[in-house]
Formats: sequence, C-alpha cells, structure tokens
Amino acid sequence: MTTRRLLRLLKECLDGRALAPGDALLLSSVEGDEFTALLGAAAELRDRHKGRIVTFSPKVFIPLTNLCRDFCGYCTFRKAPGEEGARTLSPDEVLETVRRAGMMGCTEVLFSLGDKPEAIYPEMREFLRQRGHRRTLEYLYEACRAVLEETGLLPHANPGLMARGDLERLRQVNVSMGLMLENVSERLMEPGGPHADAPDKKPSARLRTLAEAGRLRIPFTTGILIGIGETWEERIASLYAIAELQQRYGNIQEVIVQNFRVKPEIPMRDHPQPDYDQEARTLALARLILGGDMNIQAPPNLTPECYDRYLNAGINDWGGVSPVTRDFINPEAPWPELVELADRTAAAGFTLRPRLPIYPEYISRAERFIAPELIPYVERLCGEDGLGAVGGYHEPDRSDVRL
Ligand code: SF4
Repeated sequence: MTTRRLLRLLKECLDGRALAPGDALLLSSVEGDEFTALLGAAAELRDRHKGRIVTFSPKVFIPLTNLCRDFCGYCTFRKAPGEEGARTLSPDEVLETVRRAGMMGCTEVLFSLGDKPEAIYPEMREFLRQRGHRRTLEYLYEACRAVLEETGLLPHANPGLMARGDLERLRQVNVSMGLMLENVSERLMEPGGPHADAPDKKPSARLRTLAEAGRLRIPFTTGILIGIGETWEERIASLYAIAELQQRYGNIQEVIVQNFRVKPEIPMRDHPQPDYDQEARTLALARLILGGDMNIQAPPNLTPECYDRYLNAGINDWGGVSPVTRDFINPEAPWPELVELADRTAAAGFTLRPRLPIYPEYISRAERFIAPELIPYVERLCGEDGLGAVGGYHEPDRSDVRL
C-alpha cells in the first residue's frame, strides 16, 4: 500500500466511512511512519467520539465455580473436582465477598465461571441437586438475584454459552452480560489447536449466543483473544463479525482485545506471546473497524508497561479493576493500584472515571435495554452523566482484602 493510499484510507475512516476487510488486512502489516499514522487515526477517532475520558469499572470478581467442561489450551482457571484449588462458592461466600466490595465502593459484580461443568462432573450435579437445581446457569441466577437483593450491587455474568431461555432469565438479574467471541476461526478447534477440547468455544455457537443476546436487547460485552494461533485474516474477520452483530442489534456495549499470556502450567506454555506491537495494532484496527462510538477496552493488568501505547491506539476503557479480588483468569497479573492507573492515564492526557457495568449510552435508553425491575438499582449508583457517581469509589487498604 502506498503512503498516499494509506493516508486517504485513514482520512475516510475519520470521516465515518466503513473500512473494507481487505484494507484492514493491508493496514495490519504497515510499519514505521505508516504504523504511527494508523495509531494516530485510531486515537483521533476515539477523541472525536469519546473525548479524553477513559473509564474503568470498580468490580468484584466472583468465580462462582472454576469447574468447567472445556479444556482450552491457554486456561489456568479451570479445575477438576478434587484438584487443588477446585471450588464452587456457596451463596454465603458470594455475599460475604460482595458485601466487602460494596463497602469499598465497587459497583460491578462480575460472575465468571466455567462452562456447563455439570455435563461431565457428577460432583457438580450433586452440588446443584442439593440446592434444587439441575444446571449451573440456574444456580447462577440464584446467586445474581441474591447479590442484587441483598447488596444492591450490579451483577454482570459471564458464564459461557447460553441459550435464549437462559439469557431471558438472566437478563432479569443482570444489567449486562458477556461472552468473549475469542475468534471466528473453526480451525482453532482442530487437533493441536487451543480449542480442540473445548466444545463451547465453537465459533458458530458463540455467535448464536451473541445474536440471541442482541435480539433480547441485553447490553453485552464481547471481544477477541489474540495470539492463540490465529492469522491476521482470522483476527480481522472476528472484529468484522462483532461489527456486524452491532450493526444488526446495537447491543454490543464494549469490545475487549485481550492478549494471550504464557503460563508454565498451560498446554500452550511453549506458544509465543503476542508482542505489544501486535496488541496496539489490533486495538487500532478494532477502533477503525468498530467505529468511534464503540467502547474499546484493553485489560491494564495484562500489559502494565503499555498504558500509554494502548491509549495512543484508540482505547477508551480499562475494564474491570478490583480492589477486593484478584484476576482469577490471570492470577499472576495483579490489578494496578487505582491511584497509579489514574496517574498514568492523566500523564497521557486523559481523565480516569469509574463507570457501572452498563455504559451510559445504554442507561440513557433504559426502557429498551434494562429489565424494568433493575432500573432503580442502576439509577441509585449512577451519576448524572451515566458514569459512576463521583466520590463513590475509594482506594482501599489492600492488605486485608484479597480472597
Ligand atoms: S477458558 Fe473458560 S471455557 Fe475454556 S477451559 Fe477455561 S474456564 Fe473453561
């Protein structure tokens, strides 16, 4: 691609013209000044639509169960019954942690859990039976309802694949939900691939859940995981699949670009990690493909040395940061201190603001996107601009608050 053509393409993106997949692929390989121009266009598009506010969600992470029927090649979260660290939380354990989080000003309760463990583990079936359930998703509903009613904090569940009935039910107790698309490539499910033993990572099934959530008007978080063996074509196709869902249903509230991290205990321990350049390049393309209105997020704990670079690649959100619990998906990567995140965000020229697990643009259309019984819970916690109420969150003393 000539520099002239590149600059014309970037200008067209800034003027609101959709970027064609073939052009996105060409942009994925630019270098030097052209790479700088790509990042600059993504940042400019973010500035025009989002201004200089960067958000984060003060959250508590509830790993309701780490039993899972899938075996993703990069996962350290999942455990089998009896394995060290295997755990399914009781309602009392959930509430105890959430109450502590509430005292520290957290507003989001992220329920992250393994997918359908009852399908392969009798121990999970027995746990559920004792509580009058057959499926983990029923227990999740009970836990979300208890959190809402007992603490007033806002559940955001991320439990894997869901059918329409599951989504309908969980929508009554969640202000938003999430499911990472990961990648649209079926190839990654082939023997030796990261999803070879993960039936719930089937792209068509994940797209189905995302589409159902769209039909049900559930504010939804999704995203891609980069560096797991996908090609640039597959990565870009995944971003376009998300863009298409958003065009059709308008319920995708944020898109996460998450980077694969090597850990000694995973099957993919010898797989190369994506470098920062790749992450920044993907973030910039995500901004251009998904447009200025989309909330684009990079998790700050996965690349702590790159805050400036990601801000300069067009992100406007750092995602959930917890003062109470660690990142159970990436336990080796501590959340940043809020003071540090705010300082470094400010040093790059931005203001850090807390937000709720549902973004302002969906709160302002509450009658369309929020179950009526949840609206008072949201109104109680949000400020006039739809972000977190000012002064609600404070940096805790971490010494006694880790799970
Ligand atoms: S990444 Fe999620 S679906 Fe895959 S094994 Fe881990 S917990 Fe299960």
